[in-house]
Amino acid sequence: MGIRNKIKEKLFGSKGKMAGRVAIVTGARRGIGKGIALALAKAGAAVVVSDISLEECQLVCNEITKSGGKAFPVRCDVSVSAEVRQMVDAAVKKFGRVDILVNNAGILRFEPFLDMKEETWDSVMNVNLKGCLLCSQAAARQMARQGTGGKIVNITSIAGLSAFPQIAAYNASKAGIISLTKSMALELASDKINVNAIAPGAIDTPMTKDMLADEQTKQGFLRNIPRGRIGVPADIANAVLFLASDEADYITGTVLVVDGGWICHL
Ligand code: NAP
Repeated sequence: MGIRNKIKEKLFGSKGKMAGRVAIVTGARRGIGKGIALALAKAGAAVVVSDISLEECQLVCNEITKSGGKAFPVRCDVSVSAEVRQMVDAAVKKFGRVDILVNNAGILRFEPFLDMKEETWDSVMNVNLKGCLLCSQAAARQMARQGTGGKIVNITSIAGLSAFPQIAAYNASKAGIISLTKSMALELASDKINVNAIAPGAIDTPMTKDMLADEQTKQGFLRNIPRGRIGVPADIANAVLFLASDEADYITGTVLVVDGGWICHL
């Protein structure tokens, strides 16, 4: 075993295909982000668990460390560039590098198109699209400095591939993420940084809790899902594990749809 691998093993343990990797997951205090953080940690990555509430990030970290993983909580509003830079700096200070970034933080706001307030548009765009830009820039600069490549996975939505009513800003922000994914894939390939997106369908999380609590809405969703069930965070985490792994080394600029087949109707 080489000295580099020996150091890696001492620092991160030898188990799992992500051993030795350092990952940042945004919006990771709950829902899909938490599922992704747990899965990456289980696969051996050291994970920076980032969200707006530091206390709740700490709880996720406790869960990870209790099962033998490595994690560190960082408070970060992804729409504020200074906080994003601090998040990446904190990751480097704690774990020495950044290999994986998962841009998961996102918000959903319902408003009919004709009544949509300018503030709604701005806040959704700031978190979902600008947040993805700022975090990717900061992490990719670090990955480029390291010179060993990296993986960026952006969480978009099937709403970015089609359109759902009452959420025009969300639809546009998620379509923007798909476009940004391709631009980044083009420009970061020379630094061996792969950039891909995952488009979830309906996933059971706090974001969809109210919708899924309404039996009529839930049955409406299920009628559109050929696989016949609502997704769970682990469905998305499994896709992240693939796109962030060496096995996905020749995949960049794509959108992986994880929706139980909903998109087939759209
Ligand atoms: P969630 O349960 O609401 O989790 C999202 C997390 O992001 C929350 O903890 C939220 O904190 C955080 N967040 C919001 N604004 C932030 C900011 N400015 N900076 C940092 N963190 C911020 O939602 P989810 O269902 O897990 O969704 C995760 C991602 O998947 C989102 O990008 C969402 O659009 C996408 N997605 C979800 C579904 C679904 O069916 N659930 C489908 C397609 C795509 P606060 O609660 O404080 O806002």
